[in-house]
Amino acid sequence: MTVDLRSDTVTTPTPAMYEAMAAAELGDDVLGHDPTTERLEALAAETVGMEAALFVPSGTMGNQIALATHTRPGDSVLFEDDAHMLFYEAAAPAVFAGVQARTVPSDRGIVDPERVAARVLKRSEHTPGTTLLCLENTHNRAGGSATPVATHARLREVASEAGLKVHLDGARVFNAAVALGVPVREVTRHVDTVNFCLSKGLASPVGSVLCGPAAFIGEARFWRKRMGGGLRQSGLLAACGIVSLTQMVDRLAEDHRRAAALAEALSGLPGIRPVPPETNILMLDLDRPASEWQGALEERGVRTIPVAPHRLRLVFHKDVDDEGLEQAGRHIRELSDSGLV
Ligand SMILES: *Cc1c(COP(=O)(O)O)cnc(C)c1O
Repeated sequence: MTVDLRSDTVTTPTPAMYEAMAAAELGDDVLGHDPTTERLEALAAETVGMEAALFVPSGTMGNQIALATHTRPGDSVLFEDDAHMLFYEAAAPAVFAGVQARTVPSDRGIVDPERVAARVLKRSEHTPGTTLLCLENTHNRAGGSATPVATHARLREVASEAGLKVHLDGARVFNAAVALGVPVREVTRHVDTVNFCLSKGLASPVGSVLCGPAAFIGEARFWRKRMGGGLRQSGLLAACGIVSLTQMVDRLAEDHRRAAALAEALSGLPGIRPVPPETNILMLDLDRPASEWQGALEERGVRTIPVAPHRLRLVFHKDVDDEGLEQAGRHIRELSDSGLV
């Protein structure tokens, strides 16, 4: 059996999703109405405590639509140092919104509000004005760390004082909510807009949802069309998204438990230092190159991704059960014991 820990995007749809797709009432969402997409958007908006929502094909597109809708070309935008929006979105902030990125350091992806205040620029003849703060919760490259609600509240205060809007890249915001033990709307309470992925731990095959004020979402719809993200019978996919939101959130705790269990099982092995996981992402810091570990594990049917020269990422999701967890742990231990890596 292959244990695929490359990402929580590798999941297959659940039986309930196939049933929901077969039964979905469809229209044409670009011409005007697709009832199932509209149901998903209403449910998403309500779930995160916002006025409106827009179904988009990917997390990248949702984030970039948000950026383009919030800003004007030449604005300065604050991102955490290792933000997905800068690192993994193909330079889209420079190309679509045309903004100038300025980064803020963090402690494991959690941004210090005082540092944000220090990075804000006032528009002048020489400097661009900062208009937006982008946050990420949970933080992907920081190993799935969850920013606490109190930190979001303080970040919002600092942003408001400086006249900035706040966008949350909440690709895994439901993992954050589960880890923090609060409803997701508490995590999104202190931001203007949020984009979350249905296709990450929530097991939908495709799709993300951008949520925010009604006027903002109206403008975002225009940007979605411009970027080529208008989908016709999108209710087919939105039907899966409804299953994600109603059936797949609570089980994220299982993924968190397995990530913690693997970290625990590997602690103390020579040459491997697990970074204690907060959610479903486990980072292993390795003495040997991560690419060697990846290759050796791949041969044994355990799939992972190196994210730095000596760092391997393992992500838990609904298609990895306790047997998969045991198998991954055993192969890593055996490779370590045998000195093959
Ligand atoms: C996966 C991810 C995205 C983008 O999602 P895609 O659907 O792959 O475009 C955005 N932000 C974060 C933090 C992610 O992990």
